[in-house]
Order: sequence, then structure tokens, then C-alpha cells
Amino acid sequence: MRHFETTLEFSREMDKKDLLKSYKERFYMEKGVIYMDGNSCGLCSIDAEVYVMKALKDWKKFGIDLWTHPEANYFLYQDKLAKLMAPLINAKPEEVTICTNTTINIHKALATFYQPTPQRYKIIVDDLNFPTDKYAVDSFVKLKGLDPETAVKVVKSRDGKQIFEEDMIEAMTEDVALILLPSVLYRSAYLTDMQKIADAARERGIYVGFDLSHSIGSVPHDFESLNCDFAVWCNYKYVNGGPGAIAGLYINEKHFSKGPGLAGWQGNNKATQFDLKQSFEPAEYAGGWQTGTQPILSMAPIEGSLRMFQEAGIHNIREKSLKLTAYMMYLIDEKLKKFGFSYGNPAEDQRRGGHVALEHEEAIRINKAMKDRKIIPDFRYPNIIRLAPVAFYVSFEDVYRMVEIIEDIMETKAYEDYDGSRGTVA
Ligand SMILES: *Cc1c(COP(=O)(O)O)cnc(C)c1O
Repeated sequence: MRHFETTLEFSREMDKKDLLKSYKERFYMEKGVIYMDGNSCGLCSIDAEVYVMKALKDWKKFGIDLWTHPEANYFLYQDKLAKLMAPLINAKPEEVTICTNTTINIHKALATFYQPTPQRYKIIVDDLNFPTDKYAVDSFVKLKGLDPETAVKVVKSRDGKQIFEEDMIEAMTEDVALILLPSVLYRSAYLTDMQKIADAARERGIYVGFDLSHSIGSVPHDFESLNCDFAVWCNYKYVNGGPGAIAGLYINEKHFSKGPGLAGWQGNNKATQFDLKQSFEPAEYAGGWQTGTQPILSMAPIEGSLRMFQEAGIHNIREKSLKLTAYMMYLIDEKLKKFGFSYGNPAEDQRRGGHVALEHEEAIRINKAMKDRKIIPDFRYPNIIRLAPVAFYVSFEDVYRMVEIIEDIMETKAYEDYDGSRGTVA
């Protein structure tokens, strides 16, 4: 059991003991702001900036030679990034590549793994995932000439908050070809028991893939043990790779010989790529799933960021993250419960991702009042205020101050000054 206290001094004591405290200074944010939206757009670090500036300088200095000059050498930049990325999921570097965006990487994975037959043609999904995954699956099924109504099996959550693994396993009937689930749910922070799902799917000859967008950089994964078939993720949330950062793709090495379903010249065998033959010869590693020329300027910040992960260690990040969210829940219980708040996220460490889902019927107005007081939360319609205390740049004192500010908003009824309309974005 962790021990917490409700005083400001206690939060400062926690910060003093924090092994990761010095990282905060390496991130840009206006002074006085408490940033709790790292699960939507992670902050810019000095480290990320350094690598962007280097890429720019290399372009200025070398022109086309930036691809191969030893001082620049960006030709296989994705492989260099994969080496830094792989430890976050305990995969082999050859099984990881960085390309396009999460949605396209789902399409890429489906193009390889989804080969429907009259006997096996269904894809299992959940009904709580971020919707782009479902859009991708539905459209891909249509591309194969099938109807999503019959070919996409949506397994509904019993409580609208979490994925029930037993229900997923029960749905794994003989007509199912593939299952795609999120690692952590973007609203409730619920962490799926991926091992249980992957083991059950494998036993039944069903391909299994995960979307790690809400766990990568916050929750360590062990893909060596997991042994799933593919995974996708974005790098602009907890990875702090920059808005729209190039996304991640994992292909289990046992599938390298399948080659990409969607091919392009950057996925060609490196030894023969520049022979520029009309026939494609896939590279037999995750890099084979590359398509067109890599966007170096958009990849560069990921290098700076991943070097910080290498330095800090993903397990230390997870430990601090759990402590931060546990502390936040403790303070909410002590100071805010009486105002009608509750949680949509699991309380147990082994089931909780990187954020707290604070629920209140006045969430829209409270969220607006928080923003005016320099807290950056993340509102999800209709009643969730997502609060992600990112281990790299949120301190225990930040959490303390945030709860104090919310307490003031509630006590003074300041939220009543704001209108409860939804606006256009959230
Ligand atoms: C953030 C997120 C995405 C983002 O998709 P992009 O194609 O990178 O815009 C996809 N899936 C999930 C589960 C996410 O949380």
C-alpha cells in the first residue's frame, strides 16, 4: 500500500524523492501551466527539438547526400528509431518500424493479415475503442467485397467502461479471422489483459493485433511473451514525438515472409532497392512494411524523445505514473468526492493506464473553468475530464495544486459562470 498525505509539504517530499524529477526542465511549457493532456498531445522537449534542428541543418548542408553521408545518414532512419523504440514493448528491433499514421498502419496490417475465406472472414472489435480503428476495419472489409454488418463482430462492453476478456474469448468462433483491440481504453484508462486475449486467439488460429496508442510510452509491454501478430500505435501522445508524429508498427518476426499487403519501394530489399526493378522484392523485416520515402523532419523529434526513454527507463516511468495517478485519486477522494465526482478508471494498478477519468455531471463547465486557471485537461463528451499526469513532466506538486484549484472551482461555484454547450471540438 502506498502512503499519501493531504498537505502541500507532502507533495514536495514526494517530488524530492522522485528519480525522474529533473526531466520536467527538459520540456517546454508556459510557466504556471499544469499540463494534463499528454495523452492527446505530449509536450515538446529540448531533446526532440535538438534532433529536428539537426535534421534541418543536415538538409541545408548536404541536400540529397543527407540520405547517405556518414554525418547525416538518414536512409534507414526508421531502423535507427526502431532500435530505440523496441525496448518500450520488449520486441526485437527488426519487428518494429516507424511509418505513416496509426490509421494507415491498421490498413497495412489488415492488408497482410486479413485474407477472408467463406469459412473464416470475421473481425472482432470492441465498442469502446477510439473510432478510427473501427472506420479502418469497416472500410477494409468493404474493400474485400464484404459487408461490415456481417463481417465485423462488435463485442459490446457490459458496463461501457472496460473490455471483458471472457466475452471476447467467447466471441472467438470458427468464422473469426482476426481480432483487433486497444491496449488501454482512451476514455476509461482500462488496461486490457492482452496476454489472455493473445493466448486465446492463437489457440484458435485467429490473428491478433493491438492498438497501443494509449499505452505506448506509459505502460511497458512484453511482446516477447505476448507473441501477438501485429500492433500499431501513435507517437504523439505519451511518446512526445510531436503533433502527428510518425506512427509505430510491429510485425511479429514469424510473419516476415508474408510481406506487406500494401507495397512500396521503400519496403524493398535494401540490397536491390536501387536496381529499381519493376518487380517488388520485400525486405524481410518490419521495414518491409514501409511504403514511400520517409518524412525525416517529422521523424527527427521521435529520436530525441526516445533517447530520453532510453535514459529514464520505461519501468521507472510506469512506476512514477502509477504513483501520480494513485496520488491524484487519493486527493480526489479526500478533497473532491463531496462535490459529486467519481472515477471512470480502474483503481487497481494492474488494470490502470496512464490517466484518471474524472466524472461529473457538470464536467463541461468545470473543464472550461480549469482551462481558465491554467490547467490543461482533456474533456470527453458527455461527462469525463481526462487527467494524464505524464511522468516526464508532471510533478506531485502539480497534482496537488490541480486538485486545490478544482476544489476552489467547486467551492466558489465558479463553473456556473461558464456555459455548458459542447463547442465544436470536444
Ligand atoms: C490516438 C489514437 C489513434 C490515432 O490515429 P491516427 O491515425 O494516428 O490519427 C488511433 N487509435 C487509437 C486507439 C488512438 O488512441
